[in-house]
Amino acid sequence: MSSSKTLIRTLIQNPTRIKSKSQAKQLHAQFIRTQSLSHTSASIVISIYTNLKLLHEALLLFKTLESPPVLAWKSVIRCFTDQSLFSRALASFVEMRASGRCPDHNVFPSVLKSCTMMMDLRLGESVHGCIVRLGMDCDLYTGNALMNMYAKLLGMGSKISVGKVFDEMPQRMSRLGSCCVATESVEPVMNCDEDLEAETCTMPLGIDSVRKVFEVIPRKDVVSYNTIIAGYAQSGMYEDALRLVREMGTTDIKPDAFTLSSVLPIFSEYVDVIKGKEIHGYAIRKGIDADVYIGSSLVDMYAKSARIEDSERVFSHLARRDSISWNSLVAGYVQNGRYNEALRLFRQMVTTKVRPGPVAFSSVIPACAHLATLRLGKQLHGYVLRGGFGSNIFISSSLVDMYSKCGNINAARKIFDRMNVHDEVSWTAIIMGYALHGHGHEAVSLFEEMKEQGVKPNKVAFVAVLTACSHVGLVDEAWGYFNSMTKVYGLNQELEHYAAVADLLGRAGKLEEAYDFISKMRVEPTGSVWSTLLSSCSVHKNLELAEKVSEKIFSIDSENMGAYVLMCNMYASNGRWKEMAKLRLKMRKKGLRKKPACSWIELKNKTHGFVSGDRSHPNMDRINEFLKPVMEQMEKEGYVADTSGVLHDVDEEHKRELLFGHSERLAVAFGIINTEPGTTIRVTKNIRICRDCHVAIKFISKITEREIIVRDNSRFHHFNRGSCSCLDYW
Ligand code: ZN
Ligand code: ZN
Repeated sequence: MSSSKTLIRTLIQNPTRIKSKSQAKQLHAQFIRTQSLSHTSASIVISIYTNLKLLHEALLLFKTLESPPVLAWKSVIRCFTDQSLFSRALASFVEMRASGRCPDHNVFPSVLKSCTMMMDLRLGESVHGCIVRLGMDCDLYTGNALMNMYAKLLGMGSKISVGKVFDEMPQRMSRLGSCCVATESVEPVMNCDEDLEAETCTMPLGIDSVRKVFEVIPRKDVVSYNTIIAGYAQSGMYEDALRLVREMGTTDIKPDAFTLSSVLPIFSEYVDVIKGKEIHGYAIRKGIDADVYIGSSLVDMYAKSARIEDSERVFSHLARRDSISWNSLVAGYVQNGRYNEALRLFRQMVTTKVRPGPVAFSSVIPACAHLATLRLGKQLHGYVLRGGFGSNIFISSSLVDMYSKCGNINAARKIFDRMNVHDEVSWTAIIMGYALHGHGHEAVSLFEEMKEQGVKPNKVAFVAVLTACSHVGLVDEAWGYFNSMTKVYGLNQELEHYAAVADLLGRAGKLEEAYDFISKMRVEPTGSVWSTLLSSCSVHKNLELAEKVSEKIFSIDSENMGAYVLMCNMYASNGRWKEMAKLRLKMRKKGLRKKPACSWIELKNKTHGFVSGDRSHPNMDRINEFLKPVMEQMEKEGYVADTSGVLHDVDEEHKRELLFGHSERLAVAFGIINTEPGTTIRVTKNIRICRDCHVAIKFISKITEREIIVRDNSRFHHFNRGSCSCLDYW
């Protein structure tokens, strides 16, 4: 026997000894030289080529075979799948079946993976039928691949309902049909399957399919368990998911990080902290609670269940922290309204040299928007640009939202215009921005543009456009949008939509109509919906209706501070001191105290706060020195103090003094004396700007030639040259 033949024999017995392309080619050449390239030896060479990812070489040899053996088919199909050529893998599988070869357990995992990646459920089910007929459904790898396919294609793990997947199927199939021969030709091939039962397997949907496959596999591994546990958890079958986690514990298969991290986030979605704790306890007992994936999932879960202290504790115990775990806690703070802590942690994250990812940005930027801190927002924008996330659609949308909420609608628009694509989130952010800044017409035309570009408005977009209409009094347009929600878009109106329309009617002075509208709402009206009408009653000085509305409010919320104050004010301005005194006595009995009005202004990296009537600010003397001549000038130009809103039963002179101590006025004055001439002044107030201050600030903007922007709890007021962007309609 020649030495080359010996070599071939050893190689055939140990094909894995061939580690390089040249070795494989040498072997191939050797076979040809010795004229021993049979179908079997060719298959071995093909499998060696495909193991080395030499697809081209493998296919050249494969094509020379008249009737390729199973090993050759298997190698080629697996190689196509590994190289993401899924439609070619499926086409080869169909060809293999047509040639009469019977696939073995090595073939199915690749075929099922290709079906999954092509999202071809129909073909996948046919393959399943074939697997059952060949009795291959007890094979571990085939079973795992089947479960994975059903879990992915039957809508679990995504928010799409099973029904929706099926509705979309024909469309998807026809799209694939053009690029995938297999889809069209597979059915006849499957059905003429020899003598085995011709009836096709009818597969139940979703988790049921996964469960059936799971039960058939006699010896399961960790992948089998993970797939079905994730499937149960995502289908809302938490008991079953937990039962299997426990069952795993009794076998010799140990749950891994993936098992727990796939289960925990799902519990947090549904805010079941007790079950989450049970799993946390399990993780601690197994000593895997400090694992970075598990830890981050736990941080996430507790934050979503409003147990941020537990999140902090888990975070502080993590042995290693990556950007995922930092992000989880930053996002947790934001979800729980703890914006300052979110920003502090974000800064800490940056200083510890963990690079914040896009997720961290899209959770921390809204924190700036909530705090209306433009300075920090700009800093974050800088980080975003330096980090190369400027074109990320989620981050850009949150920047649009942040700039508009921090009072800079022009910067918001610039970012919006620079985005390549706009989704419903970015459209909604810019529309809401214009609405809050009182540019209702601009907001409405952007809403129309969004629809023209084929982006379907969602519920939030409708809140934005209705708010826009409300701020500029577009009654007819608002009715049109409100009605189109159900008629055109199939969206049910929710409380916010009703509230916006009620607000609009109230502002437009259609008080009775608003009262009827709220009384007939499909949703139970809340105290705050009635409160907006109450403030309209106060603006339009309709005391009679106000009394009716306030009764409604007190029946829902007997401690509604805002309603008490508004009613007191209305009684005061009508000289009805007795009723006012009665109401104030009631307030005192309930222990209600007026929420102090506060305003803030950011100057040179510092935030300065002012409380109404509080004269303890160190700069008070300078503020008064500034305000005195300005007030005199104002009076010369026609300003008359509107003291009707002052609660106290005191003389006129004193009332005027009280008005001058209003927090927004102090903050504006402080801003003007501490900035260069011409600088825009930005003030934030915790409650609605008062009528008299609104008039006064218009005068101040004219006298001092400053642009002054006041953000109160419902909108922005841009004061410039003696008028306000709201055109006194608020
Ligand atoms: Zn005021
Ligand atoms: Zn205004």
